Amino acid sequence: MKNEVIVRCDNLVKIFELDEQKVLALQGLDLEIEKGEMVTILGKSGSGKSTLLNIIGGLDTPTAGEIMVGNHNLSKMQKDELEEFRKNTIGFVWQKNRENLFSYMTVIENVMAVMNYTASDKNEIREMALRLLQDVGMESQQNKFPSQLSGGEQQRVAIAVALANNPQILLADEPTSAVDSKTAHQILKLLYKLNKEKGVTIIMVTHDTALSDKVNRTIMIADGKVSTEKLRIKDYDVNFSDANFSYRDDIEKEVHEEYSILDKANRLKLDDEMLRQAGIDTNKVKVTIVDEKIIIEKESLEAK
Ligand code: ADP
Ligand code: MG
Repeated sequence: MKNEVIVRCDNLVKIFELDEQKVLALQGLDLEIEKGEMVTILGKSGSGKSTLLNIIGGLDTPTAGEIMVGNHNLSKMQKDELEEFRKNTIGFVWQKNRENLFSYMTVIENVMAVMNYTASDKNEIREMALRLLQDVGMESQQNKFPSQLSGGEQQRVAIAVALANNPQILLADEPTSAVDSKTAHQILKLLYKLNKEKGVTIIMVTHDTALSDKVNRTIMIADGKVSTEKLRIKDYDVNFSDANFSYRDDIEKEVHEEYSILDKANRLKLDDEMLRQAGIDTNKVKVTIVDEKIIIEKESLEAK
């Protein structure tokens, strides 16, 4: 069963120009994400992950290609329309705590600051903010300032802030890179819980395979394109009754199947490691079809 597609990237290209120099950050990236999915985006530094996330979130626009989020065509929007879209549809969690929270506001004030004040009165807003802080397990610290919290706690508050506008999509750019690995797993579990309970679509960038291995779908990016995808065959199984949101630790790499992506021109990107393992070290390969399988092998010398 295919769910509604909430993010569709079609041949996205992003070129940055830095004093005469052009940087190709995205090179024709195709991607679809369904409503309610929780995916991770994995890739080396500089591969284009943040650029992609910023474009999905309407913070940046592509040089070419199309980006649709729900029925909004972001590639056609003006700055003010993008801002409106962002305010209503997207929640962001950044890597650095200081980009997520105002240091001069308390925890609850930070959450309230992004809520829409118009319709409701202040008490109602406070109630809603408190409920969000309960969702992330931070209600008891509502009157502290960010500097009085640990890195992991700050990120929990950042998640509550990101959810305060009731977004359809939560975008998180390496939200766990500044915390230790135990805290990183707790943050991931919290995101899982919010994904399951609130149905919010979550796209998380990481370079930590220990985290991405716990997620149903991992999209790997290399050189500004989707290179491969990993899909978990079994659904994830998170125990929410546990206060620490434990997930089963027997979920390991074996249950993943790896997929490579054919682009619109039927091109396939193979990673270096695959080629190394197959002993392919030339740029000419032999391609044959055997039993509905395409076999790519090293050019054989005997054939000459
Ligand atoms: P990642 O998040 O995967 O580390 P980025 O999306 O940040 O990668 O960057 C992709 C490429 O684009 C890199 O080469 C980076 O230096 C370049 N880049 C990103 N943002 C800018 C910018 N604002 N100006 C110029 N180059 C940029
Ligand atoms: Mg980045």
